[in-house]
Amino acid sequence: MTGWPEDPADATTPVANSTAAVERLAANAPSLERLDARVSVCRACPRLVEWRERVAVEKRAAFRDEPYWGRPIPGWGDPRARILVLGLAPAAHGGNRTGRIFTGDRSGDWLFAALHRAGLARLATSERAGDGQHLTDVRIAAAVRCAPPANAPTPEERDTCRPWLVRELEFLRPRLAVIVVLGGFAWAALWPALVAAGYDVPARRGRFGHLSEVELPGGVLVLGSFHPSQQNTFTGKLTEPMLDAVFNRAKSAAGDPDAEADPGTRP
Ligand code: SF4
Repeated sequence: MTGWPEDPADATTPVANSTAAVERLAANAPSLERLDARVSVCRACPRLVEWRERVAVEKRAAFRDEPYWGRPIPGWGDPRARILVLGLAPAAHGGNRTGRIFTGDRSGDWLFAALHRAGLARLATSERAGDGQHLTDVRIAAAVRCAPPANAPTPEERDTCRPWLVRELEFLRPRLAVIVVLGGFAWAALWPALVAAGYDVPARRGRFGHLSEVELPGGVLVLGSFHPSQQNTFTGKLTEPMLDAVFNRAKSAAGDPDAEADPGTRP
């Protein structure tokens, strides 16, 4: 539709303009690819639509000569991922600028470098859509898909956006083994989405913390991690070894991606 690298939508992609439309278009998305396309043109939250588009016009001075995406950011990565990384929401001058989750901001620098050290990302950096970055066995998504003012979506916006995550969890379910949750907001947002997606979720579960774990009865491990926000990384609350420990744990819990072939790959 736009000629933007990796743009999943085209002129035929239906646009959600309301909470009810998000619910309907998420529930009947026929594939992960089509879900991503529908997410990327969503306009259901008036405050966030206004904000993301205003930021895309006003821009940050350092990026004034660059085009901004200014749209929702769908999940991105390996469609057959066994590890899902769930964040809060795109950054105004990161994903909202580049069109790809965690791409073009300091949090993403930390995240993609850690994924690369763990052997899950081709490149140690993620600068722009179409830069050659590639994830293996990992997909990254956000609980809220539009950049919010002050990184703070309202509870209503979080709930309106949930059906996109629910449908994503449904598509990933056959292979999903680990969900790495970045920060307390995403931790809280994940549980109702898991329930709505049909996952068996324990009634009692631990509080969010770094390397906190909840094993779902169906076998999926939910693994907490401090968010690689500038606030956490500048203050040393989150260090590179701490983030490496998260992805090493995620990899060991997910196991060998080739050892557990699904019916489509079994010889
Ligand atoms: S936050 Fe989610 S539901 Fe709201 S406009 Fe963005 S993509 Fe749509």
